[in-house]
Amino acid sequence: MQRSLILLKPDCVQRRLIGEVISRFEAKGLQIVGLKMLQVTPELSQQHYAEHVEKPFYKSLEDFITSAPVVAIALEGLDAIGVVREMLGATNGLKAAPGTLRGDFSSSRQMNLVHASDSEESAKRELALYFKPEEFCDYTLNLVPFMR
Ligand code: ADP
Ligand code: MG
Repeated sequence: MQRSLILLKPDCVQRRLIGEVISRFEAKGLQIVGLKMLQVTPELSQQHYAEHVEKPFYKSLEDFITSAPVVAIALEGLDAIGVVREMLGATNGLKAAPGTLRGDFSSSRQMNLVHASDSEESAKRELALYFKPEEFCDYTLNLVPFMR
């Protein structure tokens, strides 16, 4: 089992696509084990996007990610990190394949709806940025046959 940190970005919240996106994760059999709405601060943005802070697009990215609330989700499942990245599609919504979240709902390389951790290492780091240990919920669903 893996856990991944998902952010429904400001464009997702503004466009009222929260339910649409969460529905897809639930339909896939991924389990929500943490969930909150928050406003990303410039400081949190710099930590979250540490690998991009020196890049030319960073200022614009920070302005965007701090422009409205986001929904942070801890998602758990078998190979959850890779599975969710596949569900998101390519970074640029214009290039993301139809059927993926970005491919179906975004035409932008910046406003691409959803963030998801890209490795076990970043998942660990990002989950700790958004959730305290006691904010995760451990529970068992009776849906195991659909998750195998
Ligand atoms: P991903 O979110 O697919 O992991 P990256 O880690 O490369 O993509 O970039 C982080 C985020 O920065 C992207 O999701 C997007 O919102 C934004 N971004 C990436 N590249 C650009 C760019 N060239 N111009 C503007 N925003 C960008
Ligand atoms: Mg990335």
